[in-house]
Amino acid sequence: MYFYGTTGVNKQGHLEIGGVDSLELAKNFGTPLYVYDVSLIRERASGFKKAFAEQNVKAQVAYASKAFSTVAMVQLAEEEGLSLDVVSGGELYTALAAGFPAERIHFHGNNKSREELEMALDNQIGCIVIDNFYEIELLKTICLEKSAKVNVLLRVTPGIEAHTHDYILTGQEDSKFGFDLQNGQAEKALAAVMAFESFDVLGLHCHIGSQIFETTGFLLAARKIVEKLAEWKAKVAFEAKVLNLGGGFGIRYTKEDEPIPPSQYVSAIIKEVKLLIEQYSLEMPEIWIEPGRSLVGDAGMTLYKIGSSKDVPNVRKYLAVDGGMSDNIRPALYQAKYEAVLANKPLAQNTETVSIAGKCCESGDMLIWDLPLPRAEEDDILAVFCTGAYGYSMANNYNRIPRPAVVFVENGNATLVVKRETYEDLIKHDLPLK
Ligand SMILES: *Cc1c(COP(=O)(O)O)cnc(C)c1O
Repeated sequence: MYFYGTTGVNKQGHLEIGGVDSLELAKNFGTPLYVYDVSLIRERASGFKKAFAEQNVKAQVAYASKAFSTVAMVQLAEEEGLSLDVVSGGELYTALAAGFPAERIHFHGNNKSREELEMALDNQIGCIVIDNFYEIELLKTICLEKSAKVNVLLRVTPGIEAHTHDYILTGQEDSKFGFDLQNGQAEKALAAVMAFESFDVLGLHCHIGSQIFETTGFLLAARKIVEKLAEWKAKVAFEAKVLNLGGGFGIRYTKEDEPIPPSQYVSAIIKEVKLLIEQYSLEMPEIWIEPGRSLVGDAGMTLYKIGSSKDVPNVRKYLAVDGGMSDNIRPALYQAKYEAVLANKPLAQNTETVSIAGKCCESGDMLIWDLPLPRAEEDDILAVFCTGAYGYSMANNYNRIPRPAVVFVENGNATLVVKRETYEDLIKHDLPLK
């Protein structure tokens, strides 16, 4: 059995996290319940930050808040000295409401609206990562209307796509995001943003994928970009102050996943960039990265209560929990795999193989297929590990199921950071026919 962070078994033989008994959490806050191990989030954040500091490289580690965006999480990111990526007006609003320093907020997205861009400029956020030609024109118009200046990065697609254990080199990247580096689009975009005096063009950004377990893809992307930068220095006298290599660092969901520590990605990236910079006689840029999943993913678990079961003789046994695709859509969306234990007897011998079903009216609403478990009984608590990223943030009200509460645990204390939705919340925006 694999335990993340402060997760373990206490004297009562119950699953414990952050020094708090998980059964107490389930009893006090109800189920389903998202629980976050705050010290593990801190450990992950400082792992990335330290790796840059140790090598004296100017850097920003920006938490990609789409992985899990709430006021308390944004405040935790601020406490840890992270910067923050947002991809919508809603995430930006959350960040500002949490009191996050605007100058450390970066705004991403392939279709930012006029309202979102205005909101970003009005709040003087740190930079806007420009994605396409439409956005260049829109942002120029807004800057002129407001007599505003803004820092920008250009998002480029370096022709590398990374997947879990491999990467694909594509001549011309087929992606909805960014300016293609190879076909001249990025160069055209650069000319357009350099020509507009209210833009301070900080540099380039790329994000090559997610749940990546190797450094190769990042190094290849860095190489492609720095080669272009060398070309652009000679051609148009552009020098990047910032090289942003995105996020996508992989985590362990199941025993098949073997992640490398944050420091290893960072030191490999630094080494490669330094080498390239020297090779092309460029100034060392700041290096920015954008971890989302790897900061919060394995720090989160979901507690469910077990209800009905169904035996299909000689086929499988279904065990149903009081949540499902409404609080974790990842298994249904992309066959994501998870591990789980019974929180009231985590060390009991596994005696059967069961499949964990959600309660939504959808056959595809399965959380885990073929999970070895001890014999489970009604009202046992199932703890599903590693649900901290893209769980709550993708939660929905399908079947009018209220979204679960979120609790932070640390040093024996539990703090409610998102209240459980109520039935009243569900119809709050509904209007009667008459
Ligand atoms: C989603 C995203 C990230 C974070 O990805 P993770 O896999 O969660 O680390 C970082 N940067 C950009 C631009 C993204 O879209």
